[in-house]
Amino acid sequence: MTASIFFAHVDRVLSEIESEGLYKRERSISGPQGGRINTVSAVGTREVINLCANNYLGLANHPEIVAAAKTALDEFGFGMASVRFICGTQTLHRDLERMIAHYLSKDDAILFAACFDANGGVFDPLLGEEDAIISDSLNHASIIDGARLCKARRYRFANGDMNELEDRLKEADAAGARVKMIATDGVFSMDGYVANLVAICDLADRYSAVVMVDDCHATGHLGERGQGTPTLTGVGQRVDIVTGTLGKSLGGAMGGFVAASQSVIDLLRQRARPYLFSNSLAPAVAAGSVKAIEIAQKADDRRRVLALHAERFRAGLAKAGFELLPGQTPIIPVMLGDAKCAQKMAAALDERGVYVAGFFYPVVPKGRARIRTQMSAALTETDIDFAIDAFKDAGVTLGLI
Ligand SMILES: *Cc1c(COP(=O)(O)O)cnc(C)c1O
Repeated sequence: MTASIFFAHVDRVLSEIESEGLYKRERSISGPQGGRINTVSAVGTREVINLCANNYLGLANHPEIVAAAKTALDEFGFGMASVRFICGTQTLHRDLERMIAHYLSKDDAILFAACFDANGGVFDPLLGEEDAIISDSLNHASIIDGARLCKARRYRFANGDMNELEDRLKEADAAGARVKMIATDGVFSMDGYVANLVAICDLADRYSAVVMVDDCHATGHLGERGQGTPTLTGVGQRVDIVTGTLGKSLGGAMGGFVAASQSVIDLLRQRARPYLFSNSLAPAVAAGSVKAIEIAQKADDRRRVLALHAERFRAGLAKAGFELLPGQTPIIPVMLGDAKCAQKMAAALDERGVYVAGFFYPVVPKGRARIRTQMSAALTETDIDFAIDAFKDAGVTLGLI
């Protein structure tokens, strides 16, 4: 009886998701990630232009990275079958951690299976119930979950609202907070906005707060040498803790990290639960990521192409009459409002050979559905122009422009 109630409940939730137009369906790709990919469906395999990968620098299928991973398979094996502190630390893992730390000008770094885990594990060891986490309302789900897993009191400020941030800092002070940590995404992935790190660091100085930035959508492609938003905004080392991913610009495989001062990393290594109780990164992933960072540091050519693509695509879509969110990142959201409308547009673009993803509640607020496009250095100018034409044609057909 209880079990049948349970399964009826599951079915009901699923049909609610479906009837609200919020059901996400996964499309299959055959072959590697890239500017053009092959999608597989009932009608067969088709090449499409890909505007929805986090493959900003186009490194996801870079031959030198693939080769480094293959070599590591031969030299270090397939898997570690251990957490880091038992018998899961190879020289490779320390090489990668040192390399990340050096890249981001921090003392040290610690690897996780994903940035979701890095954010899930970063707060609890560093903060207790006497402390406060002050979090931007649009922060990534993993920051929200990480803060929930920590005993510190949680405060929230409206996205990018520095007056509210200051109010929350004052509230935390009034409540007697020992440590105040401001947590923000460096780039807000759904909108493509860059956090106002200058104002955040100024407020942090004034109220003696610590600053934590999740730079998943910036490390590798934004700022000088791709060092991310602290460099882009000029605050540099005023950011105390940076979390990031190896699953986007830096090769796109998987893995996350925290980079910070030595004592912070030392404490995380002792206490961060997703680090202590989860397997080591696979050797091939670690070696490929080392190579990816090596390439990313020097990839001014790729960063230039990426910025030019973003400019070209923005100009083309704006001229066609689409509503875009303003910005300077390779994330270009095309605002459509209704979830069903975003899904129809995504399907219409798919028919025209352009692969995009519609984003809707709960990933973005209700009524703010969109097609989020992302540029990549793996795309060509021809690809960008093709995509602009497809948007125009689909937009006219659906009566959106
Ligand atoms: C992608 C992303 C994550 C999660 O990174 P994974 O390594 O894929 O787990 C965390 N935070 C932000 C802001 C992200 O964009």
